[in-house]
Amino acid sequence: MEKPAISGGIPVRDKKIYYGHQYIDEADIQAVVDVLRSDYLTCGPKIGELEEKLCEITGAKYAVVCSNGTAALHMACLAAGVKEGDEVITTPITFAASANCALYCGAKPVFSDINEETYNIDPEQVKKLTNERTKAVVAVDYTGQSVELDSLLAHCHENNLVLIEDGAHVIGTRYKGKCNGSIADMTTLSFHPVKTVTGGEGGAVLTNHEEYYKKLLLYRAHGITRDEGQMAHEPDGPWYYEQIALGMNYRLTDMQAALIISQLNKLPMFSARRKEIVRAYDEAFGRLPQVIVQKEIPESDTTRHLYILRLNLSRLRINRKEFFEALGAENVCCNVHYIPTYYFPYYEKLGYKKGLCPKAEKLYEEIISLPLYYAMTDQDVQDVIKAVTRIAEYFDVENTNEA
Ligand SMILES: *Cc1c(COP(=O)(O)O)cnc(C)c1O
Repeated sequence: MEKPAISGGIPVRDKKIYYGHQYIDEADIQAVVDVLRSDYLTCGPKIGELEEKLCEITGAKYAVVCSNGTAALHMACLAAGVKEGDEVITTPITFAASANCALYCGAKPVFSDINEETYNIDPEQVKKLTNERTKAVVAVDYTGQSVELDSLLAHCHENNLVLIEDGAHVIGTRYKGKCNGSIADMTTLSFHPVKTVTGGEGGAVLTNHEEYYKKLLLYRAHGITRDEGQMAHEPDGPWYYEQIALGMNYRLTDMQAALIISQLNKLPMFSARRKEIVRAYDEAFGRLPQVIVQKEIPESDTTRHLYILRLNLSRLRINRKEFFEALGAENVCCNVHYIPTYYFPYYEKLGYKKGLCPKAEKLYEEIISLPLYYAMTDQDVQDVIKAVTRIAEYFDVENTNEA
């Protein structure tokens, strides 16, 4: 039995490995430099080019790119008509932005519990939480695995709700053969550096509905229009424009758009490598009774953004924090995604209490996000597997480590 570093063993590796890292090549750098030498730093040709590319890749009819994934969620909620007095159902196992977007609109986030095997929002719970105040559902494709779009869409459309898919993790994934982004009423993307494709910052909303598309364009840029058809008054002259809604400045720069376009050219490569790493992890961890492998629904052909190691605590003598620290001692530096949103003091002050979503809360006690990114070498992957295996076996309930 190999001793983990925490118990006086030698770490599986000398150099620290982190849970995520961007991959930037010379083509990416050149794309940004080309924009810097051009006439437009923002509102230039790269914006339309990126929007066309996102439509081409996903099959969505319209794309509106914006400053980040949080802005995308805010705009999507506004376009869906979310307002004061409304309720928006979402999952607590996500980044806070998935619920904050409802608060931005004066609406109330309502937290639905998850499916205990896939960790995604449970459509049956969503049904139970729906009432006459419910306006929208923000469903998060957690780790990149698609939510159950068929049942969520059927429920939303029967009840006149808008389905917003928070697809910050989902780029590269297909649901029943179709790309995520072309299925829900609106799908939001994020291009933060930890995500599969990055622009430094950046986001997008994808939709097939012209009505949402027009609203998204307005909300992205102050609510200002230059389209005479939308104006209340006769134009004073060629300079004329009108503000017809209260929008924001959520524009993306051309430097970021150029970087995202260049990164999207590598999406098939990113996706293939991530799948390869996930297969290696699943195969190794499937043999360890001390850990649980995330279930994948057959409808989802997943490009995983995060790899979640779930501990089977009944088979271990240590808890999640101790397991996490033991991995750190092996120089495998992990993270945890996510703290249930309603645990945060801001949400506590709004009246949310622990106990709301028992399956999500249990999951949170048992999870660690392992390194998963394109540039990991096979040796990196083997080191992570070795570290997890060593710790899991050493701290197994039946192993008293007397020798
Ligand atoms: C990253 C992320 C966001 C927010 O995206 P930003 O681009 O960082 O604003 C929203 N939801 C989820 C699930 C995310 O992972």
